[in-house]
Amino acid sequence: MRYHTHVVTSLCIGAAIASQTSLPFTISYTAGIIAGSLLPDIDEPKSYVGRRSLGAAQKVKQAFGHRGMTHSLFVWAVLALIIMLESPSVFASGLVLGYLLHILEDFLSVQGVPLFWPLQDKRYKIPLYRTGSRLETVLFYGSFSLLIYIASQYQLFHEWLRSLRSFFQQIW
Ligand SMILES: [Zn+2]
Repeated sequence: MRYHTHVVTSLCIGAAIASQTSLPFTISYTAGIIAGSLLPDIDEPKSYVGRRSLGAAQKVKQAFGHRGMTHSLFVWAVLALIIMLESPSVFASGLVLGYLLHILEDFLSVQGVPLFWPLQDKRYKIPLYRTGSRLETVLFYGSFSLLIYIASQYQLFHEWLRSLRSFFQQIW
């Protein structure tokens, strides 16, 4: 899945979760989701984050391969536990959620992901789409429309803009 599809599908699911839980749909929450949904591809130098990683992506790919360590549910669980214990925040919740969604989104692609690395190298998948395929484009626009729908249905835009305003008020 390409980075923009990861971002939009994760934001869409994140909005659905925020509309049903006490998680606030704020700028911190959405920034966390976006960062989390991009981070796992730090293992691919040609990816959106990989190209901006100052060479780190090359090293991660050499050590673990693309869709290796960073796409493991096991690694996610350990990271999530550390982050939520050390510095729980709305941003952290978004980050942990976005990262998890990225793994699940790749799980639905034909390439699959090693969900239980390092316990198991086996790649798991429910092959629904191929990266860059027409179906991925459909997923992108479908999630985008659903995101707009959920956000307007539950007044999430309002909440998001309010958090943006207070963010700028804090800076100035
Ligand atoms: Zn990925």
